[in-house]
Amino acid sequence: MKRECLCCGAPQGMERFEGRPLEVSYQDLKRTVPGLAGWACSECGEVEFDGASALRYAKAGDEMIEGSSPG
Ligand SMILES: [Zn+2]
Repeated sequence: MKRECLCCGAPQGMERFEGRPLEVSYQDLKRTVPGLAGWACSECGEVEFDGASALRYAKAGDEMIEGSSPG
């Protein structure tokens, strides 16, 4: 299943993925979020998560940032 990438315009650039672990990084911290689903462009590397996956990915990043701040 493929579709156009809105980022770089490649007609079949975006390819469906499911159950893929992806790394969130913030400064020198890294965390892997497992089981993400969405679309990824093979041309420019743009990633577009499904709603639930986007939330989990964002939450992992937020937790990492909160955990790293003093106090
Ligand atoms: Zn692209």
